[in-house]
Amino acid sequence: MNENILKNFKNKKVLVMGLGRFGGGIDSAMFATRYAKEVIVTDMAVEEKLKASIGKLDGISNITFCLGKHQESDFENCDTVIVNPAINPDNNKYLKIAKDSGAFITSQIEIFFELCPAKIVAITGSNGKSTTTALTFHLLNNNPPKMQTYNNVFLSGNIGNKPLLEIIDNIKADDIVVLEISSFQLEQLARIKKSPNVALITNITPNHLDRHITFQNYIDAKEYIFKFQKAGDVAIFNGEDEEAVKLMNKVASYSPATCMTYNCSDLPLRFAEITPLPGRANFSNLAGAVAIARQLGMGNKSIKKAIETFKALPHRLECVSRKNGIRWYNDSIATTPESVMVAIEAFEQNKIIIAGGYDKGISFEKLGQKIVENKNTIKAIILIGQTTPKIAAAIPADTVKVEMAGTLEDAVKLANSIASSGDVVLLSPACASYDMFDNFQQRGEMFAEFARKI
Ligand code: ADP
Repeated sequence: MNENILKNFKNKKVLVMGLGRFGGGIDSAMFATRYAKEVIVTDMAVEEKLKASIGKLDGISNITFCLGKHQESDFENCDTVIVNPAINPDNNKYLKIAKDSGAFITSQIEIFFELCPAKIVAITGSNGKSTTTALTFHLLNNNPPKMQTYNNVFLSGNIGNKPLLEIIDNIKADDIVVLEISSFQLEQLARIKKSPNVALITNITPNHLDRHITFQNYIDAKEYIFKFQKAGDVAIFNGEDEEAVKLMNKVASYSPATCMTYNCSDLPLRFAEITPLPGRANFSNLAGAVAIARQLGMGNKSIKKAIETFKALPHRLECVSRKNGIRWYNDSIATTPESVMVAIEAFEQNKIIIAGGYDKGISFEKLGQKIVENKNTIKAIILIGQTTPKIAAAIPADTVKVEMAGTLEDAVKLANSIASSGDVVLLSPACASYDMFDNFQQRGEMFAEFARKI
């Protein structure tokens, strides 16, 4: 373990910049309080918005909060800053103050990479990260012990129930860690010139351009997952994604790591029959996970056995009920038109789609086109929420039946009255949930509950 980094925490004044609501800030703060003399947690969001996160840090004696603002004096007087990946470090005046005052600037993912004694397998990409990461963990974790070249397998990063720095002390050199990594975290890792031992990219499509500004900058950030790999490391690219293949050609020109691609056609067809994940996109995610498992010595027989016991992640094309030959899928995490387009492609069966929600101001034109292209298998679109008129307007008249429902429960009842045996009912909203629900999880859970009640 590289204990060197700990000198920046032991008996120091540490500032956690960005508490957030997704656990990374809490994990960083908890880690800091174990070593530091004093920890200040600061976030531009007000206390009211961060209540749940603050509650998790309740009762820790060496912690104070500065919320609803940042204070220049905190940045001037601290020894170390742990920066949340959601914060854009470019031209950030507070980070500049800290740097100019000689503070050590780091992040949760950098601390983890510095301290982790085990091999790290990491997955990035624009879509399919969580699914591929969960599949990889499941396969590696179900490799029969006598076949394993490693001891325990850990799942963490943006997924898993234990955050990075909470598990760090339990990880031993002969273990393996499977992580999902975002482009923002990759930019942080680049500061310490570290990449994982096994790195995989699922695909690259324009994303987060509000922060990366150009598509090329975003691709450059994704490249960091491979950029600092060493001899003996493995770089894995989706061979069916044009941008990923382009990136491989670039990485192969300088990297000492073994570069390879994966394709759906690498998999025996019987894997498609046994996987609980519908659709080609998920088959591609499975091909990625299998490529990693094979690199770590797992054989086809063990892989097949493990696939059979994989459970879909909640809210991602998750089958929540089967009744009267009708299958009900919760895809509540599909908050963009693109993810609904993936969901439409996932099912050959006749389908009834429940969509609509909070209006983020995005266009539904392409989704409308996709719906029309698939009109032969789409029995109806049932719309709920704020975007009902917008989505309805994107579907040309006399192509697909469009119904409106006042509530999700009404939508489920209506879908049931339209569906017949062999059909799929899909909640894939194309929108965020905030107009009717607390979050996408609540929307998905309610859908599952109503579907099971039928
Ligand atoms: P991420 O972690 O990258 O957001 P997830 O695995 O959570 O991805 O999947 C989120 C949604 O993205 C899924 O419900 C599906 O609609 C879509 N998706 C999943 N895998 C892929 C893929 N390989 N290519 C394109 N879209 C995908």
